[in-house]
Amino acid sequence: MSKRVLIVGAGYAGIEAALYLNRKARREDLDICLVDKNPYHTLLTELHEVAANRQDEESVRIPLREIFRDTKVRWTTDEIVSFDFDHNRAVGQREIYDYDYCIIAIGSSPAFYGINGLKEHAFTLWSFDDAVKIREHIRDCFMKARTEKDPEERKRLLTFVVGGAGFTGVEMVGELAIWVKSLCRENNIDRKDVRLVLLDLLDRVLPVLDQKNSAKSHRYMTKRLGIEIMLETNIQEMKADEVLTSRGLIGTRTMIWCAGVCCNEDASDVSISRVGGARRFAVNEYCQTEKTNVYAIGDCGALADENGRPYAAMVENAIQSGEGAAANILRDIHGEEPKKVEVKFHGTMVCIGNYFAVSEIMGKRLPSWLSVIMKIMINAHYLFEIMGLRGPARYLKSELVDRKQEKRFLARHYSPKMQAWWVMPLRMFLGAYWLYEGIVKATQGWFANPKLAEFLGMARNYELSADAVSSASAGGLRLDDIIRINIKLFDFRIGEATQMLDGTAVGTDIFTRLDLLRFGNFSLVPWIIEGWALHSQGWEMFFQIAITLAEIIVGLMLIGGAFTFVAGIGSFALLAMFTTSTGLYMHSWWMIFASIVCMGGAGRAFGMDNYLIPWYTRVWESWYKNRKLKLFFPRKRR
Ligand SMILES: Cc1cc2nc3c(=O)[nH]c(=O)nc-3n(C[C@H](O)[C@H](O)[C@H](O)COP(=O)(O)OP(=O)(O)OC[C@H]3O[C@@H](n4cnc5c(N)ncnc54)[C@H](O)[C@@H]3O)c2cc1C
Repeated sequence: MSKRVLIVGAGYAGIEAALYLNRKARREDLDICLVDKNPYHTLLTELHEVAANRQDEESVRIPLREIFRDTKVRWTTDEIVSFDFDHNRAVGQREIYDYDYCIIAIGSSPAFYGINGLKEHAFTLWSFDDAVKIREHIRDCFMKARTEKDPEERKRLLTFVVGGAGFTGVEMVGELAIWVKSLCRENNIDRKDVRLVLLDLLDRVLPVLDQKNSAKSHRYMTKRLGIEIMLETNIQEMKADEVLTSRGLIGTRTMIWCAGVCCNEDASDVSISRVGGARRFAVNEYCQTEKTNVYAIGDCGALADENGRPYAAMVENAIQSGEGAAANILRDIHGEEPKKVEVKFHGTMVCIGNYFAVSEIMGKRLPSWLSVIMKIMINAHYLFEIMGLRGPARYLKSELVDRKQEKRFLARHYSPKMQAWWVMPLRMFLGAYWLYEGIVKATQGWFANPKLAEFLGMARNYELSADAVSSASAGGLRLDDIIRINIKLFDFRIGEATQMLDGTAVGTDIFTRLDLLRFGNFSLVPWIIEGWALHSQGWEMFFQIAITLAEIIVGLMLIGGAFTFVAGIGSFALLAMFTTSTGLYMHSWWMIFASIVCMGGAGRAFGMDNYLIPWYTRVWESWYKNRKLKLFFPRKRR
């Protein structure tokens, strides 16, 4: 009989556990059911980007339908309200779920430490809805401030306080400082009238990082972004229009609380022992709670290191504990001993706006630009793991192209988009050109007789020296340099080819040629031509048939718009081959640029890529998640 595994929570931990079970347990009869109160997975680490209007809200929520399509994970939207561990049941608002193994992955919620009024009046940044609420509220404050007559109320509307200078608070206030610039412009408000305050009880910002990174971030926030940082400041009380701190009152309509974390409050009734101030579920080194078939992972589980300290509530802990718990369930099913789950943290990264970041990766401090790139790569990698190729594509588009704030020179130029159908005629023309070239070669006998030596005539005239020029002056092809850049390994030239007849020029054309990897008398392309392509008739036939076929195939792919990216690369490669061998005449130079254009999704409009790319992505993703090749999929999706 199949074993039922119930996973509660589709956060970083729950998704990792579900995908791991799906991948590893393909031969077992497992029923994997994942329940979440939302039909989507929230990228919590990016919430500040939505709250401060850098990204569209859709960028941080990934539909579970997209993550689990073509897997055997059944997912459902329901809120679990209680567990009946004696009868192996979880009770949801809509259904009751029976299980043999249960993984609790319900994450954490903000802790308010009993501060009066904080829960009632502060905003939290803990969910998709929170982020949207903050964004709308800030926009609203600026709109009200624009017409507010009372100077005190205007001040309160334009004062934004963020509580907690850990990575969440710092990223939030940093992002807000950038949005404020455009909000001020849009609402005709002087930036000097806006106050941004970051409060913390500790004596430095970002205590998870070393002193230098902490000081660097502090400087950037105060000097470049105009944020007031109040350290060693205790929040004592919060009201609707003011916050009382150990350093006095701050009049504000906005307090964003990013300071405390505790086990998800939804779990307050769960009868499993808790540990620490964060009240996370007690688990052993296998992520098992005291109910041996119930595991707690991610932020809500108190998995501890060898010193007994619970791992930090961070993504790396969630992912690794998710995988560890799932692996231990499989071991239990197989009657094997469980394995200790150890979490390895590789580093921490904090981005303050688009262009500044601090990080420590494997104990090394990285420069700001590299930290920004690392953050993008890590997010893209995570999304690749859960969504396949669509994940990074979607993320990079929203992060680099669609972002709304701080588009500097380069971003302004690379982000405008063009409809793919505009390039359809160019794609077709390029395709037709290649097809024509291929057909001409075929009709000239390239499939039947050796032709390559004759075709490569110019390629074999390697040295375009004065001697070569004068010797060709009476008859044949005379080659003169116009521009030549010769830097050892690389010899690029634009020249004039003149057809000579009895000492008279009968026609000229401009060409370009590139010699690569030259060492003394050795040059790569001539070596390939002499040593391989023209070494014997058999090789000559092989190369010329390959070239002709490549031209025909690239042509057909471009005309049909099928895998146009690959066809664009193919077209570019053929041109590169001609440029480095025969040289490329000026009338063909346009093909280089057309090939580049075709790589940018030209087959999506009036081309087969419209169907092929989603199909291919699905085949690949299904293989990646199930390790099983599947070519056909049901039409109807959930
Ligand atoms: C704003 C913010 C920024 C952060 N930045 C970073 C960062 O830069 N780096 C880093 O490493 N960590 C960061 N973290 C922490 C990181 O996001 C968490 O450690 C991680 O999300 C924990 O994953 P999880 O799966 O345990 O919980 P979550 O990701 O919180 O997922 C819990 C899931 O359980 C569901 N759920 C909850 N209750 C129920 C219920 N009763 N029934 C059904 N479903 C339920 C929720 O809907 C949610 O989908 C940040 C957190 C926040 C809030």
